[in-house]
Amino acid sequence: MKLHEYQSKRIFAEYGIPIPKGNIATTAAEARQIAKQLGGSVVIKSQVLVGGRGKAGGVKLAKTEEETHKIARQILGMSIKGLIVDKVLVDRAVSIKDEIYVGVTIDRSLQRPVIIASAEGGVEIEEVARKNQDAIIRLPIGRRTGLLDYQARNLAYDLGLRRDFINQFVQILKGLYTAFINSDASLVEINPLAVTEDDRLLAVDGKIVLDDNALFRHPDLAELRDTQEETASERQARQVGISFVKLDGEIGCMVNGAGLAMATMDIIKYYGAEPANFLDIGGGAKANKVATALSIILNDIKVKAVLINIFGGITRCDEVAKGILEALNSMEVTVPMVVRLVGTNEKEGRQILAKAKIPTATTLGEAAQKIVALAKGV
Ligand code: GDP
Ligand code: MN
Repeated sequence: MKLHEYQSKRIFAEYGIPIPKGNIATTAAEARQIAKQLGGSVVIKSQVLVGGRGKAGGVKLAKTEEETHKIARQILGMSIKGLIVDKVLVDRAVSIKDEIYVGVTIDRSLQRPVIIASAEGGVEIEEVARKNQDAIIRLPIGRRTGLLDYQARNLAYDLGLRRDFINQFVQILKGLYTAFINSDASLVEINPLAVTEDDRLLAVDGKIVLDDNALFRHPDLAELRDTQEETASERQARQVGISFVKLDGEIGCMVNGAGLAMATMDIIKYYGAEPANFLDIGGGAKANKVATALSIILNDIKVKAVLINIFGGITRCDEVAKGILEALNSMEVTVPMVVRLVGTNEKEGRQILAKAKIPTATTLGEAAQKIVALAKGV
């Protein structure tokens, strides 16, 4: 789950990281009011959950209240990479001398957090990585020791920071690392960490991505979720405990187990079609969950056929079969379906489906070939 810049920066501030004074506005009049309170120049920043807002025209400076009003009106309602701006952050503008990148994420191969830093901040770090790998410093952190002062100090030197910034930098990095650990984030990022003309370090932009699997430990953070982040289908899936990722293909898939779902997508591709989604209904899925899953899949107008692949363990095949019928009763289904049921109560499950004249298959290969043929209208 991604947090907005203003949410991320407020969290950073709780960890002692200096951020510009500012506030959030949903109307141009509110933006003007904030500019009035701040006094002087401000920066007006679209709050959308994508990077590169600056380049897209979603970050602009304003010198007066009047100008703030005008620019806020331009930015509010603007579309950036497909997302409509409904909030702007109005921050006191600062004069920036230098822009540094600093972030913390997990290095999966090292199985520990890693601090990533670059003296070439401001632009997207992926771009720096493409152009000049040497400009990026990676510092793995021991899970038991955490970030040690000398590591933070060395990093400051490696970034070429002036001596009198070093203590400030150490405090910021320690705050950032603690924010990362305490919030179970998968990424925290300050880009840029600005070196200002008046010799301060300031987190001008902030980003936090939280680990969804740890959100249950952070009800306060979970509340920060913006509906913009997910589609209606993804939200519906999350609320009933289904893992769902929408893709661009034409064959909808309903599977129990993440590994089996991946294998099902692979085999659909192998037989010459594209999966429309990843969907794992999880273990022990009952009829109503199956019905929800099916309705989520059929909501996608690109779906031409649906493959249901269930390996019954905790999940009972007859429950799944009942769920399918329940779903079919509650909605109009015009696309063909093939169901493969194996495992606990498979016989009962198949009987239920046979009665309703829904095609079944015994092997995954057979099921995939059947569904691909049906989707292609063969
Ligand atoms: P992003 O494009 O989504 O990463 O948005 P940022 O908040 O990082 O803003 C993009 C760029 O705008 C920054 O790298 C800065 O160069 C510039 N910027 C942002 N805030 C200020 C500010 O207060 N003063 C000045 N002079 N530039 C700013
Ligand atoms: Mn940025």
